[in-house]
Amino acid sequence: MNTCGPRDVDLALVGGGGAASLVLAALDRHGVRDLRIAVIDPVHRRGQDRTWAFWDRPGSDLDPLLAASWPQVEVATPAGRRVLDLTPLRYAMLRSGPVYDRAAEAERRLGVRRIVAPVDALHDDGGHVTVRAGGEPVVRASWVLDSRPRSPRRPGRTNWLQHFRGWWLEADVPVFDPARAVLMDFRTPQPARGVSFGYVLPVSDRYALVEYTEFGPDLLTDAGYDAALAGYRDLLGLDPTRLRVREVENGVIPMTDGPFEARPSPRVVRLGTAGGATRPSTGFTFSAMHRQAEQVARALAAGRPPVPAPAYPRRHRWMDAVALRALAAGGVGGPEFFGRLFDRNPAERVLRFLDGASTPAEEVALMSSTRLRPMVAATAGDAVARLRARVDPTRRPAAWTVPPPVVGDRAGTDG
Ligand SMILES: Cc1cc2nc3c(=O)[nH]c(=O)nc-3n(C[C@H](O)[C@H](O)[C@H](O)COP(=O)(O)OP(=O)(O)OC[C@H]3O[C@@H](n4cnc5c(N)ncnc54)[C@H](O)[C@@H]3O)c2cc1C
Repeated sequence: MNTCGPRDVDLALVGGGGAASLVLAALDRHGVRDLRIAVIDPVHRRGQDRTWAFWDRPGSDLDPLLAASWPQVEVATPAGRRVLDLTPLRYAMLRSGPVYDRAAEAERRLGVRRIVAPVDALHDDGGHVTVRAGGEPVVRASWVLDSRPRSPRRPGRTNWLQHFRGWWLEADVPVFDPARAVLMDFRTPQPARGVSFGYVLPVSDRYALVEYTEFGPDLLTDAGYDAALAGYRDLLGLDPTRLRVREVENGVIPMTDGPFEARPSPRVVRLGTAGGATRPSTGFTFSAMHRQAEQVARALAAGRPPVPAPAYPRRHRWMDAVALRALAAGGVGGPEFFGRLFDRNPAERVLRFLDGASTPAEEVALMSSTRLRPMVAATAGDAVARLRARVDPTRRPAAWTVPPPVVGDRAGTDG
C-alpha cells in the first residue's frame, strides 16, 4: 500500500521507449534543469532491441550516436536498380543502445525519478493527471507524455501491418558496400496480398543489417520469415557458408488510416506510435518522433505546455489513406508504386513528402507520378467509405489490434 500518496511532478513520461528517450535527450540539450520529471515504464530500456533507419540533414544532435550514414541509397525493382543521391539529406542508422544510453545520461542530469511499473490508468482532472500503476496512484503530474503502445481509437478503413525480420550478418570476406544502403529492394517474390521488399544497411564491408519486410494484413510464421530472409540473402548473392547471423531483429508496425489520438485529455499528450508518429504508408516513425521531441523540449524550456504540432499534416494522412487503399485493393503494385515515385521525382522531394514536409505543389507532382486510374479509384473508394461510416457507423470495421512480432530462436547461429 502506498501510504505517502502519489509524488507531485511537473512532467510524467508514461512509457520510456523511443519517443520518451528522444524527449529526455532534448530536455537535457535545452538545459531544462528546474522540472520535476518521472519516467514510468515496466521495462528500463537498455542495449540493442531495435535499429532505427531514417533520413535527415547531417549535423544534428544524433550525429555522435549514429552507427552509419549514407549520402546515396539504392532502390531496386524487377525493372532495374536506381542509385539515388540524397544530398543535402542522408540516410542514417541508429542502434537503440546509444539512444537509451543518451537518455540515461539525460535522466541523471535532469534528476529524473524512475518508476519501474506498468501504468494502468491516467486520470486527468484538467489541472493535474493522476498516474496509477499496479492499482495505486504513483504520481500526480502537471503534464503527462504517454507513449504506451496502443491501437488506433477505432480501426481504419485499411488495417495493414509492416512486419519484418532482420539479420545482422557478419561475413568472412568483404561483401557489402559501406558507401551506400539499399533502401528498398522489391525484387523479392511478392506476396498474394501486400508488398514485400528487402533492404541492406551496411556498417562496414563485412557487417550489415539485412532485412525482409512485408506490408500486408497478416504476419508470417517463424519459418516463413527465415525462408524469406534466406531467399533475399541468396538474391543478394551472399554465400551462407561464409556468413554468421550475429543478431536477429523482429518487428510489427501499424499501417492504418485509423486515428491515433494525440491529445486524449487536456493534460495528456500522446507521443510516438501511440500519438500518430508512424507514417501509415511506410511505417517510418523516427523522424516524426525526433521532431516532436524537439518541439516538446523547446516548449518546456520556454515555460509553455509540451504540446507538439501534429506528426503529419491532415492532407498527408488523407493521401496515405488513399495510397494504402490502392495498395490493399491490388490496383497498384508496391514495386510499381514506389518505383515510379523514385523514377519521376527527385529523391529529396519523395523523402520530404514522406516526412510530411512537402508543399501542396510538390504533392501534386508526386501524385501525378503514380498510375492515375487505380489512384482515382482509391480516392473515390475512400470518399465513399468515409461517407458510409458517417451515415451508418455500424459499417465500420470490427476492432483491430497490432499483434506482437513473431520471435524465433535463431540468434547467433550460422547463416
Ligand atoms: C524492431 C523495430 C524496428 C523499427 N525500425 C524503425 C526504423 O528503422 N525507422 C523508423 O522510422 N521506425 C522504426 N520503427 C518504428 C518506431 O520508430 C519504433 O517502434 C519506436 O520505438 C516507437 O517509439 P515509441 O516510443 O512509440 O514506442 P516504444 O519504443 O515501443 O516504447 C513504448 C514504451 O512503452 C512501454 N510500456 C508498455 N506498456 C506500458 C505500461 N503499461 N506502462 C508504462 N509503459 C509501458 C514499453 O515498455 C516501451 O518502453 C521500428 C520498430 C520496431 C519494433
